[in-house]
Amino acid sequence: MDVDVAVLGGGPGGYTAAIRAAQLGAKVVCVELEPELGGTCLRVGCIPTKAWVQTAQFLHQARDSFGPLGVKVESPELDFAAANEWKAGVVKQMTQGVAGLFKANGVEWVKGKGTFGDANTIAVEGGEDVHFKSAIVATGSYPLRPPIDGLESPLCVDSTGLLDRTEVPGRLVILGGGIIGCEFASIFQRFGSEVTIIEMLPALIPQEDADAAKELSKQFGKRGIALQLGKQCTKVEESGGGLTVHFGEGETVDCDLMLVSVGRGPRVEGLGLEALGVQVDPRKGIATDDRRRTAVPHIYAVGDCAGYWQLAHTAFREGDVAAENACGHEAAIGSPAVPRPIYTDPEIASVGLTEAQAREQHGDAVVVGQFPWVANARAVMQAETVGWVKSIHESRYGELLGLVMVGPHVTDLIEAGVVAIDAESTVETVADGIAPHPTLSEAIKEAGLVALGRAIHIPNKRRR
Ligand SMILES: Cc1cc2nc3c(=O)[nH]c(=O)nc-3n(C[C@H](O)[C@H](O)[C@H](O)COP(=O)(O)OP(=O)(O)OC[C@H]3O[C@@H](n4cnc5c(N)ncnc54)[C@H](O)[C@@H]3O)c2cc1C
Repeated sequence: MDVDVAVLGGGPGGYTAAIRAAQLGAKVVCVELEPELGGTCLRVGCIPTKAWVQTAQFLHQARDSFGPLGVKVESPELDFAAANEWKAGVVKQMTQGVAGLFKANGVEWVKGKGTFGDANTIAVEGGEDVHFKSAIVATGSYPLRPPIDGLESPLCVDSTGLLDRTEVPGRLVILGGGIIGCEFASIFQRFGSEVTIIEMLPALIPQEDADAAKELSKQFGKRGIALQLGKQCTKVEESGGGLTVHFGEGETVDCDLMLVSVGRGPRVEGLGLEALGVQVDPRKGIATDDRRRTAVPHIYAVGDCAGYWQLAHTAFREGDVAAENACGHEAAIGSPAVPRPIYTDPEIASVGLTEAQAREQHGDAVVVGQFPWVANARAVMQAETVGWVKSIHESRYGELLGLVMVGPHVTDLIEAGVVAIDAESTVETVADGIAPHPTLSEAIKEAGLVALGRAIHIPNKRRR
């Protein structure tokens, strides 16, 4: 089969690239080895985890918020089978949606595993060769397994294995306190598991703003999630139908299941790319320029297989840019503001620089304002007052550098910060804008007002 653009992989990066290239008039195929489109994100990542997050959140609200707000319910409990059915239904609707979009845009979906035969051919296992003018590689990533004794036990699962469970483990140990580990810790504590996180670094979500990481640790602690930070896991042993996990200086914890979530590596091996002259690093993935071109100019790479972010929304944009270039247009990624949502309870969302990064880059010319949810009327009436919004700007021009949020619905609210930072807005633009009242969104401008020393709804720090 001869096409203009062949896309390898049907996840967020690949399906966006395929649809956009077709919209630009190209003849496009997308080769995907799984029986559904959507990739990690739709099948075993963003979508099913957030369906469980929703169940966990409703369970918490029904148990702890309904009563005080005047809603009487009989003691709410988890129906895990129903929650899993709900999750499967959401995944099905989303993956079938992508198949529908392929049809609507005239993208042909070729089922099977693809590998590059030469610089203009993808060989598809059990199918016809695809001859292309341009190709976009979007093969995603896979979960890493550290070399720890005993980790090959079937009771040590990755995120896909955990999403497949039909029973809630009584005791769950999570190896890795990054985003995925923390999201599952938050879910399973609400589902009734006794949860322990073992993390070798001294903080949870170590790449995030230090205050946000501290707040998450504090709230997890209050919920009874055991945190073993700054400790290495050394060995895992099967014992009495469960596991004994060894960590730190001779410490142990027993559990029924262990989630291994220590990061993901780019899926780049065995694709035949090196033979074509594409630069591939097994740790960092496929090297590309700002237009997503590899060293072989008509072959592009997007998403987790070529990415730094490992996020679905960066893969979407990269797919878009690669498709434009593959179809003869000029597009580049540039350096857009990238939102960093974390769907724990409390939620965390940031964009731009963390406070530490801002101070590193701008020294003393950094001003920070923090507005607590307890002073926001909507948060109070929703009984969701944990956390705060932090506004970070530089004092020379007043440019907003970062926004860090911990609390209710912040993964939805962070988009305001994305727009503000992309537009190079000043803190005054944000603080003096009119936000609807009473809403959670007011906390963003209020944090700006705190930074400017003009807060109305909390006391300002005394000027010396
Ligand atoms: C548990 C979990 C939760 C997550 N939650 C979020 C979140 O909330 N928000 C967020 O932004 N990101 C989240 N992510 C990350 C997100 O899923 C990825 O960043 C995103 O899926 C990357 O998209 P992609 O298109 O690069 O790769 P993928 O989605 O991995 O898609 C790659 C596709 O290529 C196919 N493929 C691979 N090799 C071949 C081959 N040789 N031939 C044919 N097909 C092939 C694969 O089967 C797969 O379908 C999460 C990830 C996990 C694991």
